[in-house]
Amino acid sequence: MSNEEKDVIIVGSGPAGHAAAIYTARARLKPMMFEGAMAGGVAAGGQLTTTTEVENYPGFSHISGPELMMKMREQSIGCGTEILTRTIDKVEITSNGVVVYDQDQIIEAKTLIIATGATAKRLNIKGEETYWQKGMSACAVCDGGLPIFRDKPLAVIGGGDSAAEESTYLTKFASKVYLLVRRDELRASKVMQERVMENEKIEVLWNTEAIEAKGEDVLTTLSIKNNQTQEESELQVNGLFYAIGHKPNTEFLNGQLALDESGYIITEPGSSKTNKKGVFACGDVQDKTYRQAITAAGSGCMAALDAEKFLAGH
Ligand code: FAD
Ligand code: NDP
Repeated sequence: MSNEEKDVIIVGSGPAGHAAAIYTARARLKPMMFEGAMAGGVAAGGQLTTTTEVENYPGFSHISGPELMMKMREQSIGCGTEILTRTIDKVEITSNGVVVYDQDQIIEAKTLIIATGATAKRLNIKGEETYWQKGMSACAVCDGGLPIFRDKPLAVIGGGDSAAEESTYLTKFASKVYLLVRRDELRASKVMQERVMENEKIEVLWNTEAIEAKGEDVLTTLSIKNNQTQEESELQVNGLFYAIGHKPNTEFLNGQLALDESGYIITEPGSSKTNKKGVFACGDVQDKTYRQAITAAGSGCMAALDAEKFLAGH
């Protein structure tokens, strides 16, 4: 058991966690970061470690996701962050601070910054492991502009706002976009539905499920099935984007913070404050709208400044 109470503990190691680490370390708060060990199925460094090219992070016109995250990690350490490659399974939030359980250690802290991100849901269809990031992705906004998708037919799976937004977005690059919806209606808001229906490049395939991804070096074909008629067919597509929702990594909180109906941490608008004093949240774990590296990093900065202000007042 550690007797030393930390000023700041950061859980999570994506752009949000590292931005929070850099700012709190530079404020001489000696942050301790738990970067996770395949927490939520993602390596330390977060979701960007699962992608190839990142072309929209300012300052880097072309950089691989893992390299960008390695640079952030080096910067965090260089500024004075202590990083532990461990996953936190349990925290206790009290009126005086937080207690973090790390294997056989108990670490107390005055503030906690939660930056555990969210994991894009996948279908795990046949061929997915072969063609993941070779035509298949869970982020159209991130990957849709890549040259392999330009002027090519693409497919999106999902029926919510993300699927509607992403299929509409992809029509900027694609020759055609098939939207595969498992039911006979969209869950997306009316305005988003209208945008889909009015877009001549989008063809909605109702009651349709994906069965198998096929191709050679990259994806070229998707086997699909109509779940009403059981009829199977093939779509010639060079890209397949999942938009079937994300799962925020909030289970370890065990109900101690206010979450929305999808499990995202609720923060005060315009801040990183949660409903518990001294506990701040940043990045995708509290953001189901923007979900970008730059917005995650920006909110990590906000969490660091909020934590610093909180500590100054105590
Ligand atoms: P994450 O990146 O999700 O990182 C959270 C980290 O916390 C993970 O490593 C996780 O393992 C760890 N963690 C979780 N629980 C615990 C725990 N209990 N204890 C310790 N650690 C824990 N955005 C862009 O701006 N540009 C792009 O080009 C781009 N491409 C993308 C490509 C793909 C395939 C995906 C999936 C996403 C992409 N994104 C892109 C989105 C971007 O990656 C995310 O918005 C961003 O990474 C969110 O950052 P974050 O810090 O909130 O969390
Ligand atoms: P949602 O959970 O709203 O929708 C997920 C969609 O994926 C549903 O249509 C669901 O189908 C479908 N789906 C789930 N599992 C499968 C599966 N196994 N096979 C096929 N389809 C599947 O997630 P979103 O990411 O779309 O949205 C999350 C939240 O973010 C929502 O609150 C949304 O409003 C918000 N959002 C808002 C945006 C905006 O306003 N601009 C943009 C993006 C998101 P079914 O309908 O049958 O359950």
